[in-house]
Amino acid sequence: MNLILLGPPGAGKGTQADVIAARLKLAKLSTGDMLRAAVAEGSELGKKVKDIMVSGALVPDDIIIAMIRDRIKQPDCKNGYILDGFPRTLAQAEALDGMLAKEGTALDHVIELAVDDAALIERISGRFSCAKCGAGYNDKSKPTRKTGVCDACAGTEFIRRKDDNAATVSERLKAYHAQTAPLLPYYRKKGNLAAVDGMADIKDVERQIAVILGK
Ligand code: AMP
Repeated sequence: MNLILLGPPGAGKGTQADVIAARLKLAKLSTGDMLRAAVAEGSELGKKVKDIMVSGALVPDDIIIAMIRDRIKQPDCKNGYILDGFPRTLAQAEALDGMLAKEGTALDHVIELAVDDAALIERISGRFSCAKCGAGYNDKSKPTRKTGVCDACAGTEFIRRKDDNAATVSERLKAYHAQTAPLLPYYRKKGNLAAVDGMADIKDVERQIAVILGK
């Protein structure tokens, strides 16, 4: 099964992608995570994209498309994958269609996590993750069970993303509305778009998605 999770930054794509990936044994492909890993490594790619990411703008299509083209050829994608944060432009969506056609596969579902902008800024500024295992949390909606201790690995160090600040978030939202929102009619026309209420609590969103997937 191949899925796309679509929605603005802070809609909960990463959280839901983790849950679905674990439950259905799919690979989770997050272009944001891949780019952050490249920045942390200090690779050529990382150097190219670092400032763009901090500004909240989108990384050029050719870089992103090449990254995904390589990634979906990896063995862990054989059973299917969830795309989190890709595609984000029409050019990326068209390139993905080409890749899928070449591999003789297709997209099973495109799920929109619908959330209003006002809630996003608050949600994003509350995000943090475990420095050791990467488990994601939120000050308000998903705190650790024990303050200062990761539920998953008992790590005690946490990090906040550099681009999760009010100024960058507003640029990321602008990029979403200008460049990514046009993907909604694109997939609606193809007939595989379904929307869930991303304002609901995390477990409820999980249930809504399970209904769409039929599992
Ligand atoms: P994310 O973790 O998905 O919020 O992505 C963080 C940042 O990485 C974005 O604000 C963009 O600068 C960049 N990025 C991630 N995915 C893409 C993509 N598909 N196209 C362009 N830029 C991307």
